[in-house]
Amino acid sequence: MLYLGCHLSSSKGFAAMGRTALSIGANTFQFFTRNPRGGAAKAIDPEDAAALCAMQENGTLGRIVAHAPYTLNACAKEEKTLEFARQTMADDLRRMEYVPGNSYNFHPGSHVGQGIAAGVEKIAAVLNEVMFDGQRTTVLLETMAGKGSEVGGRFEELRGILDRAKYPQYLGVCLDTCHVHDGGYDIVSDLDGVLAEFDRVIGLDRLKALHINDSKNPRGAHKDRHEKIGMGEIGFEALWRVVHHPALTGLPMILETPNELDGYADEIARLRV
Ligand code: FE
Ligand code: FE
Ligand code: ZN
Repeated sequence: MLYLGCHLSSSKGFAAMGRTALSIGANTFQFFTRNPRGGAAKAIDPEDAAALCAMQENGTLGRIVAHAPYTLNACAKEEKTLEFARQTMADDLRRMEYVPGNSYNFHPGSHVGQGIAAGVEKIAAVLNEVMFDGQRTTVLLETMAGKGSEVGGRFEELRGILDRAKYPQYLGVCLDTCHVHDGGYDIVSDLDGVLAEFDRVIGLDRLKALHINDSKNPRGAHKDRHEKIGMGEIGFEALWRVVHHPALTGLPMILETPNELDGYADEIARLRV
């Protein structure tokens, strides 16, 4: 089964996102747990959360992906910023228990000069503090473009975080096509090779979601600028091959392209066939 959707606004709640997803031909979606630049999250309405769970239980919708605010930096240098990351992730994981069985994706962080090794240690330490025994959410490390001092531009860096995790059973990876392309991985002419590399370094069983984006920049540019499907350097054919790859069947695939709903509906329709 193909689970394809896009990033949606969470302003009207869970059930509204579910209905919006279905209205544009999606059967999964992603949303920010709070303002992407951080700040307090709205209180969760348990009835609204239950309505979404019902749509998932009856098979209308597959697993969905929550996305942490991107200001969160779990390997920051300053204690104040680290504490914000801990508080936000801990709160988000508590809130996700209202919609159990889904994923919570975050950008590992930027080491801001401390070095990759120190960054990996700090990110693992934050995860070990905020994750808890019995949680029903899978926490996903997103593959990054390697922009600036980002951690996660190489599969080995994510492996390093997984190796230090106290709760590896609740951890996975979200592969972003724009990010890995910008990071230097050749998904255009060697998708099988990149997946084999992912399997060797991380293990394909850890891959729990994908972000399907074209890129404004050439492979290895380390930029992270998303483009509409087929309008960028990756191209429609290569992205179609990702979406329909037999090794990726059943994973939630989320578009994060610069689009409004009608643009997403069009991309979903074109990628489905
Ligand atoms: Fe992201
Ligand atoms: Fe992404
Ligand atoms: Zn991105």
